[in-house]
Amino acid sequence: MSFILVISGPSGVGKSTLLSKLFTEFKDELYFSISSTTRKPRNGEKDGEHYHFITQDEFQQDIKNGYFLEWALVHQNYYGTSLKQTQEALSQGKIVIFDIDVQGFHQIVEKLDEKIVSVFIITKDKEELKKRLIKRNADTIEHLEQRLENARLEMKELDKYDYLIINENLEQSYEALKSILITQKIRTDGQNLEQIRTLWNKGE
Ligand code: ADP
Ligand code: 5GP
Repeated sequence: MSFILVISGPSGVGKSTLLSKLFTEFKDELYFSISSTTRKPRNGEKDGEHYHFITQDEFQQDIKNGYFLEWALVHQNYYGTSLKQTQEALSQGKIVIFDIDVQGFHQIVEKLDEKIVSVFIITKDKEELKKRLIKRNADTIEHLEQRLENARLEMKELDKYDYLIINENLEQSYEALKSILITQKIRTDGQNLEQIRTLWNKGE
């Protein structure tokens, strides 16, 4: 059964940490959509693994060529998701995971017919987010303020999402995310009921 799982939430909240755990456990069923971005790689980030790191010119060219399913300007950098790779993964029956911002989420809701399950992740308060951003040590103070302000604006859209996880205890947050995935997988409207009935009858 294929569907799209959108994960949004302020930068530094723990999305990548939670998603990498999900991949370790469900790697055969999931396809993680690797975005393109004009942002510079952080320490430890690899091209083609965390993002496709490209230039502004390349990004503009990709927009012109219709490469993106959605794209957005976030904290003065461009981010976008490949249309072709998403379509291919869906046609293979994969669950496609997007780590995208609120703007990107709105765009895919408009464009795709597939079932979209959406999860917003936040910290218990602004101070905790600030601590995590500082711990990650990837942003100058100026960028930090920008990310916090962007987080405040994104929080206005919480009601557009199906689920909200307050990522305080990592294990509990992971269990919550995992249960969303599992619940979605067992929905009757996403399964091939005819095939299940046929297989069941064969056992008579
Ligand atoms: P995002 O992908 O949302 O930008 P990351 O997954 O890179 O965020 O996490 C940012 C930082 O917060 C990392 O240093 C990560 O280890 C830490 N972190 C993630 N979840 C928790 C948590 N529940 N409690 C404390 N620190 C966390
Ligand atoms: P970061 O720079 O911290 O990796 O990501 C910054 C923000 O950009 C996060 O909110 C993340 O979800 C969002 N983002 C990452 N990839 C994409 C994408 O392809 N499209 C959109 N719209 N947002 C993205």
